Amino acid sequence: MGFVHEGHRQRVRFATGEATGQLAEEITALGVSRVMVIAADEEADLAREIAGALPVAAWHHDVAMHVPIEVAERARAVATGRHADAVVSVGGGSTTGLAKAVALTTGVPIVAVPTTYAGSEATNVWGLTEGAKKTTGVDERVLPRAIIYDAALTLSLPVDMSISSGLNALAHCIDSLWAPNANPINSALAEAGIRALNAGLPQVAADALAIPGRELSLQGTYLSAAAFSAAGSGLHHKICHVLGGMFNLAHAQTHAIVLPHVLAFNVSNAEEAQQRIARAFDSESAQTGLANLRRALDAPSALRDYGMPESGLAEAVDAIVAVAPASNPTPVTPEGIAALLRAAWEGDEPQ
Ligand code: NAD
Repeated sequence: MGFVHEGHRQRVRFATGEATGQLAEEITALGVSRVMVIAADEEADLAREIAGALPVAAWHHDVAMHVPIEVAERARAVATGRHADAVVSVGGGSTTGLAKAVALTTGVPIVAVPTTYAGSEATNVWGLTEGAKKTTGVDERVLPRAIIYDAALTLSLPVDMSISSGLNALAHCIDSLWAPNANPINSALAEAGIRALNAGLPQVAADALAIPGRELSLQGTYLSAAAFSAAGSGLHHKICHVLGGMFNLAHAQTHAIVLPHVLAFNVSNAEEAQQRIARAFDSESAQTGLANLRRALDAPSALRDYGMPESGLAEAVDAIVAVAPASNPTPVTPEGIAALLRAAWEGDEPQ
């Protein structure tokens, strides 16, 4: 046996209903006095509720999906102009992503208060979109110093968005099992993440206000992101990043749709991953387990329903093949990716 596992140094707090007090403790611990609070318009009231008592130097609500470079530049200018010495992000992955863009150039610490299951808060990965190209990178400056998971803040996340976002977390788990730095430690995290999401998401789908389901889903989110961050991007993430950047597709829904197709593509050459996934779903096979969960959640199934143009399929194939990880268990060919994308676009059964 031989592998290297790198865990992250960040404090993770699970504190249902207690975000305000826990956030104040983190800001005091950092010893900062000029906080920039980033929250999208939709989460602005929530942010004021939990961060209102902090020493806030700037409230910033100019957030956009996939962190367009011009949005990042505007946020950086605010951070510098107001002499911010910390960033608090309250929101989904787009909001955390903007906080990371600020931290990347200014070096200020982030405290993240996530309100979806995207998981960006638990990774040292940043992403920026310029034109139609999304670029990602790894930098320790963007890893939030602390995360506050408060399930009460996720109750307002609509059920359909909760399902897609939860499947995005599930994709972190499954893709990490064959990602470039997959190892027994992040695979164990991934397995535990699948188990938590498989238990939590159906509860959320049945009742959006079910706190235990929300808590389990957040627990699965953290496990999934910790596994993904250590393992790196596998084929699934490369596909979704290409599609998201090229066609400005909604991130969570894209992951939710593409995941069963990548599982089908890889599963016959990844027996160990297959067994782990099946065990975590308590199912006879990985594919049956995922299909059962997707059916229970009424998960989205066709990229064509989410704004992907049919004319973009060929262009996407070339871009995906160019960035596919060499470690992928099934060899990646233009024909294979074309068939995978076509099925995901049509909403066909995974082959
Ligand atoms: P998002 O942040 O764009 O949020 C989706 C929508 O949900 C938005 O309209 C938002 O306002 C709303 N919303 C968020 N929380 C809510 C709540 N509690 N109640 C009601 N509405 C709420 O989408 P996302 O899926 O969370 O994040 C996607 C982004 O995160 C992508 O850009 C993706 O690349 C990035 N991401 C990055 C990493 C990483 O490691 N760097 C990991 C995962 C995702």
